[in-house]
Amino acid sequence: MAVAKLQVPRGTFDVLPKDGERRRALEADAAKALSLAGYGVLETPIFESTELFARGVGESTDIVQKEMFTFEDKGGRSLTLRPEGTAGVCRAYIEHGMHKLPQPVKVWYSGPFFRHEAPQAGRYRQFAQIGAEALGSDDPALDAELILLLREVIGPADTRLRLSSLGNAETRGEYGVALRKHLRAGENRLSDEVRARIDQNPLRAFDSDHPGTREVMADAPRLIDRLAPDDAEHFADVRALLDEAGCDYEIDPGLVRGLDYYTRTVFEFESAALGAQSGVGGGGRYDGLVEQLGGPPTPGVGWAAGVERILLASPHAEKLAGSPRIYVVVTKPEKHREAFGITQALRARGVPAEMETAGRSVKGQMKQADRMGATKAVIVGDRLELKDMLDGGQKVIEGIEDIVSAR
Ligand code: AMP
Repeated sequence: MAVAKLQVPRGTFDVLPKDGERRRALEADAAKALSLAGYGVLETPIFESTELFARGVGESTDIVQKEMFTFEDKGGRSLTLRPEGTAGVCRAYIEHGMHKLPQPVKVWYSGPFFRHEAPQAGRYRQFAQIGAEALGSDDPALDAELILLLREVIGPADTRLRLSSLGNAETRGEYGVALRKHLRAGENRLSDEVRARIDQNPLRAFDSDHPGTREVMADAPRLIDRLAPDDAEHFADVRALLDEAGCDYEIDPGLVRGLDYYTRTVFEFESAALGAQSGVGGGGRYDGLVEQLGGPPTPGVGWAAGVERILLASPHAEKLAGSPRIYVVVTKPEKHREAFGITQALRARGVPAEMETAGRSVKGQMKQADRMGATKAVIVGDRLELKDMLDGGQKVIEGIEDIVSAR
């Protein structure tokens, strides 16, 4: 009887070794850059109470309304697979009294995140993010430092940086009234979706591709023209610091991020190489979020970048540098144990080595050594021989010291 084939759930995928190496290399580079800038690792749970995201990300956001993987545990508590990282970091900051530490507290994380979105290229239901957050200071130097770090983590991908400021909650509130008025005046030209959300989330109208909506938005009032003096100054400082660092950006008053908690600076790196899912990484300031989650008033700023999207947008490295390997050839079954010992001894000396484990003929083993890019083969027979895979030269050796020194 045929057994049904098992497959990964829709919108998820396996990371095969070829890509795994690139992912790890990206994470290692990110770890280096972030640690150099004083960011420590903070790991939060992959599932949290649903209420954290409802309160932290915002009830009116697409994430909370449509995209969360929510389930009940056996005690009837509602849990959610984390759709983003900032809410969890703020919860941890409050829970561990981190406001008592010297400020700012700078942390970074990486790991899986989950959103119930329609899967397509660059958009998955489980994806990996690298994120960084700085809590406890509203210094514009942190906004600028984080933008520069994100640029570094994204690396050689061809991206443009969009930058804007959303001001404070009060400005946003007043602006929301003006924007709703403008949207109502052009209501019959708006898409159904935008029209249905005029009250709830009028800012989303900036994200629409719908032609009528775009017409209405062309002369919409701009939040960036209404910033309170201290917010305008903060934004000018962030821009001056980016100029100072030689970082190009485009001011984009229509930049709206899909989460409710942002205040002041918002930014996003986009890549034309990605098509519809063009956001590679983005973030902003969220000066009210910690308080909203029950902590003391605490400014914060941070970002998250999608690992899959960074790699999709990055030029493929020609060939992974990978260290040259030694292949340990087993000429006959009695030599199996000796070959194993030699392989272990080489690895203990930091030499990347692999031995034959698939029962190939000696000729087949040589082919395999070639295929995997080994530079040398150790032939374990009645004598020990070292073969140079590049020039084919072969010589008898005494022991593993000769292999180590021949590299
Ligand atoms: P966001 O919190 O929505 O700004 O997401 C931050 C980054 O995570 C985005 O710029 C993407 O690179 C990545 N990302 C978000 N959602 C997905 C998804 N469904 N699939 C893959 N990557 C995603």
